Amino acid sequence: MPPDAPVIVVAALLGSVLGSFLNVCIYRLPRNLSLVRPGSACPSCETPIAWYDNVPVVGWLFLRGRCRRCQAPISVQYPLMEMAIAAIWGGAAWWYGVTWEGAAAAVFLTLLLGIGVTDAKHYIIPDEFTWGGLGIGLVLGLVRGMPELLQALLGAAVGFALLYGIAWAGERVFRKEAMGGGDIKMMAMVGAFVGWKGVLLSIFAGSLLGTIIFVPISLKTKALVPFGVFLAVGAAVSLLAGQPIYEWYTGYLHGP
Ligand SMILES: [Zn+2]
Repeated sequence: MPPDAPVIVVAALLGSVLGSFLNVCIYRLPRNLSLVRPGSACPSCETPIAWYDNVPVVGWLFLRGRCRRCQAPISVQYPLMEMAIAAIWGGAAWWYGVTWEGAAAAVFLTLLLGIGVTDAKHYIIPDEFTWGGLGIGLVLGLVRGMPELLQALLGAAVGFALLYGIAWAGERVFRKEAMGGGDIKMMAMVGAFVGWKGVLLSIFAGSLLGTIIFVPISLKTKALVPFGVFLAVGAAVSLLAGQPIYEWYTGYLHGP
């Protein structure tokens, strides 16, 4: 039974605040800036942003997407990210109720969105998301019980080893770095949340999407492939649709 509306609203509000913090992470982590100091400021005129202008979504709407002092535009990424993370946390509370499973799903999707956007913008997957996320994933496994912890440890080991192997083989074949260390650490984190089957599905779905969507673009524009973006989408598919896909695949192997 889904929880009462107030619970979902509180989860969504918490998500909007986390989304606001995620925006800070996406801006500062690739630049090696501190996450806590100084407080948020306008990138153009460096005026500190007042708390009432920094309220998730509402602040941006009230300012109509411009700095109060210098009128420089503030990216629409800020309110969009806050709304997306609010939807993720509210949705997780609605779907899973107030459970460790729901917390794990919400944290995982938050990390994936942070990784996807940072990789797309800066071609970097920060350790805070990967190693930090791995730590959170293992702790969430531990509080859920011994089978879940073992599943998380196995998943992390498979994710790390598999991507490490692919990167190693890619370097031998293409004689250049085929995959960044960030992708390897990322899949260790993914494995801690979705297990070893989820790792396989994430890589398969991510590679498929990357090939269909990005290869045609990159052939034309010679753009680098932010593979983390596609792995993040694949990992989200593993979390949200993994179970029916595994069941379909097992039935397919065993025949009608
Ligand atoms: Zn300004």
